[in-house]
Amino acid sequence: MDFLPVFLNIQGKTVLVDGGGTVAARRVESALKAGANVIVFDPRLGEEFSPLLGHANLTHQKRLPQESDFEGIIIAYGASEEAARDKFLAQTAREKNILVNVADVFEYCDFITPSVVDRSPLVVAISSSGTAPVIARIMRARIESLIPATYGRLAEFLGGFRQAVANKISSSANRRHFWERVIDGPVGDLFLAGDQKNAEQRLISSLDTASDNGQDSKASTGEVYLVGAGPGDPDLLTFRALRLMQRADVVLYDRLVSNDILTLVRRDAERINVGKRPKNHTMDQGDISQLLADLALQGKRVLRLKGGDPFVFGRGGEEIEKLGQHNIPFQVVPGITASIGAASYAGIPLTHRDHAQSCVFITAHGKDGILDLDWETLLRPSQTVAIYMGLSNLEQLAKEFVAHGADPDVPAALVENATCASQQVVIGTVKTLYDEATKANVTGPSIIIIGDVVKLHPQLKWITPTQKDTHAMSLQAQKRL
Ligand code: SAH
Repeated sequence: MDFLPVFLNIQGKTVLVDGGGTVAARRVESALKAGANVIVFDPRLGEEFSPLLGHANLTHQKRLPQESDFEGIIIAYGASEEAARDKFLAQTAREKNILVNVADVFEYCDFITPSVVDRSPLVVAISSSGTAPVIARIMRARIESLIPATYGRLAEFLGGFRQAVANKISSSANRRHFWERVIDGPVGDLFLAGDQKNAEQRLISSLDTASDNGQDSKASTGEVYLVGAGPGDPDLLTFRALRLMQRADVVLYDRLVSNDILTLVRRDAERINVGKRPKNHTMDQGDISQLLADLALQGKRVLRLKGGDPFVFGRGGEEIEKLGQHNIPFQVVPGITASIGAASYAGIPLTHRDHAQSCVFITAHGKDGILDLDWETLLRPSQTVAIYMGLSNLEQLAKEFVAHGADPDVPAALVENATCASQQVVIGTVKTLYDEATKANVTGPSIIIIGDVVKLHPQLKWITPTQKDTHAMSLQAQKRL
């Protein structure tokens, strides 16, 4: 390590900034935020200074700094981008043992200004030790995305309990374990989900039941995270989903959850495939719910990872009902549902001012092949119909659409493996889609979209080289467009 990372207390101290451009403005801004008095030297300040100029702790000198200006200064920043000014600033500051930093001139830097993720009072500072600031900035963006926006407020909230916890748990190691459980457990989750009241209650009750060794004597029940994993592309996971995936002791998943997503689950978590069992029997829904409850009752953090959204044709409701019966804490994390993912990645807006004012999501998984659909609602004009689980009876489905009065030439699309690298889009009409899908050899999970919005696909599609796009509209349908 070439530099010593420190967080400097500069409240009430004076910082000198030489320069009037963008970099100077950033230096002034962060010094003011940290509570310093700032003197900025430059004959003409740029536009970026206008929001800062009224600040009570900022003084502007319309000239260059002189030697006498360095008296009582704690940090001198050079940001003028003029070699002679930089040199004078660095030499003068060093003679007086003032910490100096000149933007982009490494030899004039006693310290580095890090890239900062600010969740005050929580602050993360990143440095590449001057080798590659852009890497530090990219890393910053990644960390930004990992730390929930309200994490700083969580730190503030927990700060209020520090004394009480110190009074109750004497050993510092045990206190640390207690805090880890609080922050990385239900209290932290409740707070980050915006439920401060329950977070507080829960914290107080675990502190009440905590013994001096920091163990919560009642904390033997685990919890369940019912998490929507989205349609397949791992980039579509939510931050919260990722956080809980990293925390689970055991994960229950099924065939709709892609491998790319499974690799993001904590490495040493036990994995249970509830979609496939010996002899290829799928696990019964009741058994899955029971297994979730059993594992949580053993004290585990159980992740139930579901394709798309857990509450859209996902039977998530049934699973948490069971948990409720056992008083097992749980949380539900929404995911991008398959039809939304399919629509975006295939360039088919589900609604559009000129083509569709409503959109319905239906499942066409008829019991014993019988489709029990509300045709009157489905066949409304200017409406898009997005169909889940419709591939296996697409032929019958299309026939029934027509039998119930749909125009056979209405454009229709099928999106297989939506959002995945293997995504395939098949375009046709209500009449032709089944044949086209058969020709295209579609077998994977597919969303069917019926409605005029499908016409927009040729203009709005965005496909990667690995994705297939089958344009197979009947001539008649093309004329209609
Ligand atoms: N809860 C899920 C839906 C589960 S039902 C969600 O919100 O998306 C299963 C059906 O979802 C499949 O039969 C298929 O119609 C659809 N589906 C799920 N993932 C899909 C994908 N990546 N591409 C296309 N359809 C998908």
